[in-house]
Amino acid sequence: MLTALLLSATLTSAQTALLPPAIPWNGASRALMVPASDPWVTPSEATQFRKTPHYDETIAYLNRLVKASPNLKMISLGKSAEGRDVWMVIASKERAFTPDALRRTNKAIVLAQAGIHAGEIDGKDAGLMLLRDMTVRGTKRDLLDGANFLFVPIFNVDGHERFNRWFRINQRGPEEGGWRTNARNLNLNRDYVKADAEEMQAMIRALRTWQPDLYIDLHVTDGADYQYDVTFGWNSAAGYSPAISRWLDTNYRSSVDAGLREMGHIPGPLIFTDDPLAAGVALGQSDPRLSHGYGDARHIPSILVENHSLKPYDQRVLGMYVFLEHTLRTIARELAPLRTAIATERARRPESVPLTWKVPADVQPQQVEILGVESRKTLSPITGDVQVEWLGKPVTTRAPMRVASEVTSSVKPPRAYWVPAAWQEVIAKLDLHGIAYERIAAPREVDVTMYRLSNPKHDTSQFEGHVRVTTTTTPEKRKERFPAGSVRVSTDKPLGTLATLLLEPSSGDSFFQWGYFNSILAVTEYVEDYIMEPMAERMLAEDPKLAEEFRAKVESDAAFRGDSRARLWWFYQRTPFYDERARLYPVAREE
Ligand SMILES: [Zn+2]
Repeated sequence: MLTALLLSATLTSAQTALLPPAIPWNGASRALMVPASDPWVTPSEATQFRKTPHYDETIAYLNRLVKASPNLKMISLGKSAEGRDVWMVIASKERAFTPDALRRTNKAIVLAQAGIHAGEIDGKDAGLMLLRDMTVRGTKRDLLDGANFLFVPIFNVDGHERFNRWFRINQRGPEEGGWRTNARNLNLNRDYVKADAEEMQAMIRALRTWQPDLYIDLHVTDGADYQYDVTFGWNSAAGYSPAISRWLDTNYRSSVDAGLREMGHIPGPLIFTDDPLAAGVALGQSDPRLSHGYGDARHIPSILVENHSLKPYDQRVLGMYVFLEHTLRTIARELAPLRTAIATERARRPESVPLTWKVPADVQPQQVEILGVESRKTLSPITGDVQVEWLGKPVTTRAPMRVASEVTSSVKPPRAYWVPAAWQEVIAKLDLHGIAYERIAAPREVDVTMYRLSNPKHDTSQFEGHVRVTTTTTPEKRKERFPAGSVRVSTDKPLGTLATLLLEPSSGDSFFQWGYFNSILAVTEYVEDYIMEPMAERMLAEDPKLAEEFRAKVESDAAFRGDSRARLWWFYQRTPFYDERARLYPVAREE
């Protein structure tokens, strides 16, 4: 036990010592901190940002704040798997504490969530300071003149309470913190479509109920070292909501960048390359399983914020504070064009919905300024391979920004999808996402296109609790009779794109690919050889064309030739006894 403790102490100090050197920072945003003697000092400020508070202490602070300020109310969005409330604070000058009242203020509604990955908790401590300054302390009261602020301090509440020193090895503070995934080991930021987690179901209901003009997901990223402390981005105009992306690109980013710089922060784009000085910036489109991909698919302006894990905790928390402050200032000024962009996207009925993208090969990428950090490559005696050592010395250069903006596959939305009554689990998910449909009270026959599936390929291991699958689809025109209780999902709706992404089996975030329809991939009726053998003989005798086809198959396909079972099955498939619905995807397209 003693040895274990000694080893633990050595490992924590080793982790701190082994992090790449911090770049000295003393930004103007330090002035936002209040002294420990202030009655409204936040729990993290009181420790000079060495620590972050537990769930109970966080909620206790917020309860005290709400009690002291008429402009705040706290509501529970729902319970986590372990029964904790996921709290949301509503900050409104008009005390508009219902969704309708909030809409009637005609001010922007900004919803920011912290701790979807609970170890990345900067947003929580920033939000506590900001809510205090907007209300009891009064130094930022003007922010509520132009916007309403909805704040979820801890989204992954159960993961947050898996609280200890051993939480994020690549991160510079706080001293202790929570875990990435929830109590069921689900990553909430892969859960927006399938919504397995209770916490996620609560959040999706909140998005529908409170209809934010802007949805912000606050994270901390590791990866390469660079100078930026606050990086943020969204799906580009090649995604699902181009008008909204353009607003973010042109009306939003430069204003928030300027606000951050003024306070001594170093804003940057999302960087997911290992060596930004050489490789620059690579931006993809996020899938709907992720917060900002989901927001894009349902036309909610959505921003992913990634503070940089190698920056000290005080710098990161203050950076997020300034980010949120200038987001509220910018949206207050730019609300009219944002609302126009949202309305444009909700009214748009795209000819095709993109499914995959790539960086265009024939377009020279734009060169952008990169605020990087010098590194050295050495040979590792442990791996025998090259290792990167970050040296903490700022370097500025220009490098390419590659954006996956060329659509490589897409699907044309049908007039409507039909989901048969038997698939209640899928229909319940449509309900959760707020996708409207008509439920038929009596059976109805409809001319539809359905997919026959072939070559299903299941992943060899689970992902987020599901065994995912892809397949080849062959369309078939059919007259299909849908039983009472089946639903017709029109795509001529604001959420038509989201419905397409959920129901089209070639979509990477479809319910099909998440494994909801795995049972239809089984062929469930069989034939005995002693029946099939004489029947095959009769079929050959009665149908010379079939006989020729069989002969050709035997001659050309060696595997088939050597497989007696496959040879009989070939005939079985050509009898009316064979399952006519084998591998028929049950969701149909009404074209
Ligand atoms: Zn994260």
